[in-house]
Amino acid sequence: MTEREAFESVRGWAIAAVALATDPATGRDGTRKVDPFDIVTPADGLIERYLRAQVRAQFPGHSFLGEEEGGANGAHGWQWIVDPIDGTLNFSTGLAGATCSIALRRDDSLVIGAIADLTTRSVYRAMAGSGQIIATTSEGDTVCRATTSRAGAARTFLEFGWEDLDQVMVGTIEVLAGTRPRVIRMVGGAGYALLNIALHGGCFLGIGLRIWDIAAGIVIAREAGRHVRLWDDGTLTHVVVGEADDVGELATLVEQFGSMRVAPVT
Ligand SMILES: [Mg+2]
Repeated sequence: MTEREAFESVRGWAIAAVALATDPATGRDGTRKVDPFDIVTPADGLIERYLRAQVRAQFPGHSFLGEEEGGANGAHGWQWIVDPIDGTLNFSTGLAGATCSIALRRDDSLVIGAIADLTTRSVYRAMAGSGQIIATTSEGDTVCRATTSRAGAARTFLEFGWEDLDQVMVGTIEVLAGTRPRVIRMVGGAGYALLNIALHGGCFLGIGLRIWDIAAGIVIAREAGRHVRLWDDGTLTHVVVGEADDVGELATLVEQFGSMRVAPVT
């Protein structure tokens, strides 16, 4: 079955992506894309081209949507959705929180998610409906145990589709401050945040993101039993993830702030 085959293939692809990203010869120097903080490194393009070639060779009937070279969002049939490096600003400046994010969608359903943590070099994968997250480290493959500690559950991760602090970010935090005690985290990598929520609990609010930022993380979070609500108009996406109560509460913020800033700074 295609899902199983893809699930096995993505393990090696993600490991290769880590090797490409962390090879000193690849380079981490960022160049500006749209705004001064929206950057791309040589590793972004290299990893995306590698993954496109793998998909073309192993799944020639599948389409491909990647951050750097595009593709049609919402295509029917099998589609790979890739962010070669999510959290490029972190990656380029030596911070943790950068990942490679690879997902497979069949029609409207996200069926496989793989996230490679470029700092620890570990790969996490899940297949929809399996109820399992598999971690691959230098020690081999293990099944992860998803937990929700009290400290884990206290965290609300925020991600926005732009980097510069603005009234949408401030307004979001202000509303959250009026609800209940929260620990706010803005790690600058949606994949990293979603993976951490899957493994340790907490909730996530993403506004003005792109589908490749969150597709793999959604699959992994769902297999950990987290609830997900996604708004995707084919260009921009908003998403909330967490326990059922969190999702209901954070959805009201998407309704309030989701349309306030829809285009990147030019
Ligand atoms: Mg990226």
